[in-house]
Amino acid sequence: MSAQQPTHHVASYYAASANPSPERPPISGSVECDICVLGAGFTGISAALHLAEQGQSVVVLEAARVGFGASGRNGGQLVNSYSRDMDVIEAKYGAESARALGDMAFEGNRIIRSRIAQYDIACDLKEGNVFASCNAKQLEGLREHQALWERYGHDQLELLEGEAVKREVGSSRYTGALIDHSGGHIHPLNLVLGQAAAFESLGGVIFEQSPVLKLTHGEPVVLTTPGGEVRAQRVVLAGNAYMQGVEPRLESKSMPCGTQIITTEPLDEATARALLPNDMAVEDCNYLLDYYRLTADNRLLYGGGTSYGGQDLASIEAVIRPKLAKTFPQLADVKVDYAWSGNFLLTLNRLPQFGRLNDNVYFAQGYSGHGVTCSHLAGKLIAETMRGENERFDAFAGLPHLPFPGGRLLRVPFSALGAWYYSTRDKLGI
Ligand SMILES: Cc1cc2nc3c(=O)[nH]c(=O)nc-3n(C[C@H](O)[C@H](O)[C@H](O)COP(=O)(O)OP(=O)(O)OC[C@H]3O[C@@H](n4cnc5c(N)ncnc54)[C@H](O)[C@@H]3O)c2cc1C
Repeated sequence: MSAQQPTHHVASYYAASANPSPERPPISGSVECDICVLGAGFTGISAALHLAEQGQSVVVLEAARVGFGASGRNGGQLVNSYSRDMDVIEAKYGAESARALGDMAFEGNRIIRSRIAQYDIACDLKEGNVFASCNAKQLEGLREHQALWERYGHDQLELLEGEAVKREVGSSRYTGALIDHSGGHIHPLNLVLGQAAAFESLGGVIFEQSPVLKLTHGEPVVLTTPGGEVRAQRVVLAGNAYMQGVEPRLESKSMPCGTQIITTEPLDEATARALLPNDMAVEDCNYLLDYYRLTADNRLLYGGGTSYGGQDLASIEAVIRPKLAKTFPQLADVKVDYAWSGNFLLTLNRLPQFGRLNDNVYFAQGYSGHGVTCSHLAGKLIAETMRGENERFDAFAGLPHLPFPGGRLLRVPFSALGAWYYSTRDKLGI
């Protein structure tokens, strides 16, 4: 992120309904600390809070506002596990890796719930999420998915087929639905703001409007911003898709991607219940997936679309409204109050990238579209490894990551071509 980029929350339903939160001043002059965290999204704030609980002196540098990035503008879905499932991990990286990651696949969700309870965070937590299949092949995939997660100890899944789907989703689009009763949904900006306040209550310091322009490795590591610098013994890089020009080694094996969300006007209770009778969050099984849920005030928050490279679309509503209307034709003319986009970070194997640079710089990024729960796990594992318990962090850090085909120049068109291929297969049901 450069000093010229926006410094306020994107105009979204979340920003409009955010809990009060102080504006923190930018850093000025030189500050020393044990640990400096770059980025105040879920990854950075989760790490900072775990580290502060361990008694470390921690400073967070945020380019814009707490929750400015994907964490303050996402679909809010508490989806368990990772963007690649354990069978793929097992096939590619072996049983040991799959077992280690499988043991942690449901932990991020539990961390979020314990944060909400421990720090009394008001973020509209609601229970349950649904994976909806659009054709027979995807329904078969859901059956396999259920068997796989049950093998890893998850016992809160339920498969619905055919008309039974309407118990949870009032749409005729779906052939089946896997309900994860342990999943859920939240107001993500309020979740990150609440955790930032908890971190500050433990003595942690956050500087907003403080983009890190330069990282100088050494002991201490120096992070330079336009108005000052932090000299830290150890650093956590948690800038994800919004961090550019700080550490080229982290940019070569990942790609920012945009996804868009619209939010309707509040729906009356009967209309809302007809869409989602038990108020669960839904994502479909397509390669380019749709995801939606009801907010606390009964708006339908509907997301979809992927723009490789993260460039902005001319009209978000023009892209997302037809998807909403396909799922819920009765809402074809509903008023849309908010439309925004945000960037997530994609990796080639769709698994997150955790690791260390020069022994005292740690990073976690690249959740590839499903990062709400895993970013919270990342923060906990960073705190663990910083106190010398390396095993769980290293289970992720040991995963190999490759650059995207085509390099920085051609990775966007190559990925778009791949997405076209897979979404055509989805449409054909093959
Ligand atoms: C529109 C959208 C919908 C999504 N929906 C879901 C969903 O429903 N469920 C799900 O599981 N996942 C979802 N995701 C993904 C999920 O939101 C992300 O994986 C997760 O929030 C990443 O958190 P993060 O803290 O790593 O990154 P971010 O939240 O992006 O935070 C990075 C922060 O670092 C700051 N930063 C960057 N560079 C610098 C710098 N040089 N100096 C200082 N600060 C810097 C940024 O300003 C930003 O605040 C969605 C993503 C998007 C964009």
